[in-house]
Amino acid sequence: MNPLSQLPSVDRLLSAAALAALVDVHGRAIVTGTVREVLAEARSTAREGAPVPDEAALLARVGAGVTAKTLPKLRPVFNLTGTVLHTNLGRAPLPEEAVQALVAAARSPCALEYDIDSGGRGDRDDIVSELLCELTGAEAATVVNNNAAAVFLLLNTLAPKKQVIVSRGELIEIGGAFRVPDIMSRAGAKLVEVGTTNRTHLKDFAEAINPRTAMLMKVHASNYAIHGFTHAVPEAELAALAHQHQLPFVIDLGSGTLADLAVYGLPHEPTPREAIAAGADLVTFSGDKLLGGPQAGLLVGRRDLIVKLKKNPLKRALRVGKLTLAALEAVLALYRDPDRLHLRVTAVRQLTRPAADIAAQAARLLPALQAALNGLAVTAGIVALKSQIGSGSLPVDRLPSAGFAVRPQGRKGGVLNRIEQGLRALPKPVIGRIEDGALLLDLRCLAAHEEPEFAAQLSASRGLGT
Ligand SMILES: *Cc1c(COP(=O)(O)O)cnc(C)c1O
Repeated sequence: MNPLSQLPSVDRLLSAAALAALVDVHGRAIVTGTVREVLAEARSTAREGAPVPDEAALLARVGAGVTAKTLPKLRPVFNLTGTVLHTNLGRAPLPEEAVQALVAAARSPCALEYDIDSGGRGDRDDIVSELLCELTGAEAATVVNNNAAAVFLLLNTLAPKKQVIVSRGELIEIGGAFRVPDIMSRAGAKLVEVGTTNRTHLKDFAEAINPRTAMLMKVHASNYAIHGFTHAVPEAELAALAHQHQLPFVIDLGSGTLADLAVYGLPHEPTPREAIAAGADLVTFSGDKLLGGPQAGLLVGRRDLIVKLKKNPLKRALRVGKLTLAALEAVLALYRDPDRLHLRVTAVRQLTRPAADIAAQAARLLPALQAALNGLAVTAGIVALKSQIGSGSLPVDRLPSAGFAVRPQGRKGGVLNRIEQGLRALPKPVIGRIEDGALLLDLRCLAAHEEPEFAAQLSASRGLGT
């Protein structure tokens, strides 16, 4: 007898109760498609001599197939990597106020480019430009899709076919193929490098200025630091030199927080307000790094220059959508009350969380982790860790933190990889890191309200890594 004839038909499988339930949830098309794939696969392996699966096995494969296809790709995860602003995990989580504003803007029509008072057409930048000016001391502001786009728009508008003078020590690459020299040439500007990697002086800039110079530029070297015999020209001196020659002085701040994070014990990071006060004509920074908002590129500075940027047709191509503006407006509004940033802006709260608080959380959660690791040849304990800020912000500084270290009992480290995979396979994947023979889970970014969910899925996952 031909073993293939034992395989049920598509219709027969579809009539099973388990699949009717799947059709209810996901629709007929995807379930039928998966049934066909599962049967085709069974036919092909049976032809190669594998046993023909029974109906229950086939139904289970269809169930697993439909689940795999319908799981969203952009899934929430627990970020226990120890890097707070993790670019691969979406950088800053939004504060609840921003989430609410974003959802409201998504759900119903909103006054995106509409002036409710006059009933006339509005400008989408107006949603945040007043707040940005208030928070930075700038005359005017505009917003694009990210800071890379902000730098690109600035160069393309103010320096086409002209020269931009930058210190050699600032020709940086930021992850994801943003390199200052490349962005410069793509934007149509000519890079003029001055000084050396470690030392650049005012006279280096002064000697490079000529009639083809469009601007002086400073790039905040946010993702690395050089130490030792170094010199960079103070911003106020560069601004004065540029203004002597009627040239704009622009700064790409990168992270650019709007508050002085030093009051929270974090290292000082230059702010747009300081840059403007030092004489910068335009400053660009990211919305989703230390600021703790949505992905966006913010440009603040002189009104006449912002007007020029907004007239560039590229601005239309780089503009942000209503969801971004809704979230950004809500986050900026929180900065009006700098005293409570550490409570209200999620990224700032995570960055300022005391190590003792994190260690106490680790003590509460250790039993759930130990239950999940039950029976495996590993030990799990609470350890002091150092978190990173991430996204190239404050690259050298580490924040005292706490979490778990899982170590193999024997010499073999393979068990750690299996546990790490097991954690990623949980309903809300847990992302940690393996370092120096240990699996490390830094709890800095686990909020108190997430603890029950975190513990429950660990407790339910007995045999993690087996
Ligand atoms: C991060 C960064 C950028 C790019 O900003 P995105 O918002 O990621 O596009 C550009 N310049 C500097 C100095 C940066 O730190």
